[in-house]
Amino acid sequence: MRKNPSPGYIALLSALITTVIPVVILLIFQLDIWQTALIAIATFAGAFFISYYLLQIFIYRKIKLIFKVISRFKSQDDRIQELISKGDEDPLSAVSKEVYSWMLDNKRELDQLKEQANFRREFLGNVSHELKTPIFSIQGYIHTLLDGALEDKAVNRKFLKKASRSTDRLVELVQELTSISELQSGKFELDIKKFDIYELVREVYELLEDLADEKQIKLEFKKHSNKAVFVKGDRKKISQVITNLVVNAIKYGAREGVVLTGFYEMDKNLLIEISDDGEGIAAEHLPRLFERFYRVDRHRSREEGGSGLGLAIVKHIIEAHQQTINVRSTIGKGTTFGFTLPRA
Ligand code: ADP
Repeated sequence: MRKNPSPGYIALLSALITTVIPVVILLIFQLDIWQTALIAIATFAGAFFISYYLLQIFIYRKIKLIFKVISRFKSQDDRIQELISKGDEDPLSAVSKEVYSWMLDNKRELDQLKEQANFRREFLGNVSHELKTPIFSIQGYIHTLLDGALEDKAVNRKFLKKASRSTDRLVELVQELTSISELQSGKFELDIKKFDIYELVREVYELLEDLADEKQIKLEFKKHSNKAVFVKGDRKKISQVITNLVVNAIKYGAREGVVLTGFYEMDKNLLIEISDDGEGIAAEHLPRLFERFYRVDRHRSREEGGSGLGLAIVKHIIEAHQQTINVRSTIGKGTTFGFTLPRA
């Protein structure tokens, strides 16, 4: 007897057993040998087909029931037929394999859902925490003004300016959150065109001149990177990437330091690097740097007006271009962010 008999094998065995009994009886009664042979063949064939058919129905029903439980699709008939007619494996062990893989899929899905639920909870907590600071500050200044400070010429403008700055901060935060949710939804379309990235960095440098001047930081290009270089990408979105990276280089860069941009040709891509000579980032923070709301120094980032969303936005944009971004840093020496874009 085989370990894993197929329905055909079981039908064959039961047909043989069924045939033996009438043949023995006929031989005892010494019927004509031809008549005996004919009856034996007929019995064998009948028994074989009936048992085969019944087994098929039995197995099919059982499997169908299992499939009904594990399947999301209405009709699994083709898949069941395929399993039953597999010659090299009995259908029940094929089904048990199928059930096992279904269980693994389910477990994976469940883990993913748990992770997403955790992530949502954390995200919501972070968002409300970030919103709280400017909102409470605005509320505080308005109440103080209403309680009398409005008439006090020494402080009224100062308080209003502070409340206004917090409003700007709030708007910035909401804009960043909108960017993140738009980028995450994957619904936006990139407007891929050929453009000169050297020109784009110069534009960003010009816009950030005042911010850099506050810390007497120079915004410059590396040697040999002082010329037009064409890439393919969404110019507006890449402008946001460069702005975020240069703003960070200024925010966390050294006073009287220098921010440098360099371009390096790599096969089909261009590597764009933006570096500063600031405080640097310890190695243990680097793997998590691009996560939403991740900040090395929460207090320092807040002082600089940071939300911890800038690098997450940068990463989303670069990944939407199917390119990569990386960071290297040495404490006390500075940080370099590098990303690639296809050369045009
Ligand atoms: P933030 O709004 O806080 O600047 P980002 O997402 O832009 O948020 O950056 C995340 C964190 O990474 C920052 O809080 C800062 O600690 C660190 N960081 C980013 N860029 C630099 C840099 N050039 N030098 C040192 N630290 C940096």
